[in-house]
Amino acid sequence: MFTAGGERVAGLVENVVSTSRGTTIGRNGTRFATVEHLMAALHGLGIDNSYVEVQGSEMPALDGSSIPFVDAISSIGLEDLSKERTVLTLREPVWVTQNGSFILAVPSNQLKVTYVLRYEHPLIGAQTSSFVFSESGFRRDIAPARTFVVYEEIAGLVSQRLAQGGSLANAIVVWQDRLSSDLRFPDELARHKVLDLIGDLALLGVGFSAEIVAVKSGHALNVEFTRKIAAQLTAGETREAA
Ligand SMILES: [Zn+2]
Repeated sequence: MFTAGGERVAGLVENVVSTSRGTTIGRNGTRFATVEHLMAALHGLGIDNSYVEVQGSEMPALDGSSIPFVDAISSIGLEDLSKERTVLTLREPVWVTQNGSFILAVPSNQLKVTYVLRYEHPLIGAQTSSFVFSESGFRRDIAPARTFVVYEEIAGLVSQRLAQGGSLANAIVVWQDRLSSDLRFPDELARHKVLDLIGDLALLGVGFSAEIVAVKSGHALNVEFTRKIAAQLTAGETREAA
């Protein structure tokens, strides 16, 4: 549950109002933008019951990954609630497609995400990352992966930000021949896409297990996928794991 100035918006897919440059939730005029890295951190730590008090209408970008959220949450500690956590599994394969991108999920008793990144760019090209979910694995292998931007796509934005004394500290900027910082993992860009998908899936509000393959998906398709799973949940086509 996100709150600001007394207004509350549940971190659920039914409240998504925009997927342009991040996932935005909102209700009755209150909006919270780019919730995905925080949602991933919460989900990655097994949290599906929390209040997030926000100043302003956008989550802080921090270093562009989930690890500052993970560290901050871990430093406070967690409380076990008496109710068992719900974990859903699929009965049938589910897929969504859009302009050459797709996400396919098949039933599985664990959450495994494989992301295939393909980018017509000399420094990116094709990159694949596979992750079998565990809290320790999330913390170590996925949470630190930072978001990236291709310079040509945001040239105006970068020069404006630098001119205002800003920094490039909250994203990896990819130029034709170089990156703005050393990578934390050789496949950091694809790992970040795994992180984004986990963050968007966290908007189901419950744990979820499936084997998922995502090719070139972004927030719009991730959210469409999450909506489809949520609809199946209502229709009884997904089930709680035994
Ligand atoms: Zn992201």
